[in-house]
Amino acid sequence: MHILSGIIFCDLCHKKFNFKNNTNNNHVYICQTRKNYGTSKCDCRIIKEDFLLQIIEQHCKILNKKYETSKVKLFVNKIKVSNDYIIIYYKDGSLSEISANHISY
Ligand SMILES: [Zn+2]
Repeated sequence: MHILSGIIFCDLCHKKFNFKNNTNNNHVYICQTRKNYGTSKCDCRIIKEDFLLQIIEQHCKILNKKYETSKVKLFVNKIKVSNDYIIIYYKDGSLSEISANHISY
């Protein structure tokens, strides 16, 4: 099981994202539909694990919450990804919103 497996959802086709090791050995997640049927069925972006973890860590820092990479699922409820935005929902009801030119932690 990878750190964020099972909690990332595509907001275009509403399927889950699957973990994938890309060619540079980066940990990334990709929409199941895109992975299985190609970008003609869903062209939702591929997302880097590091990028999401950085946002979550920064969120915790700002709000004075305890952060631990291995226990991220204990406080992150779900993550919605589309090509225009990403929304991270935390179990305490707070959220982080990422758009092309703005991040609110
Ligand atoms: Zn999709």
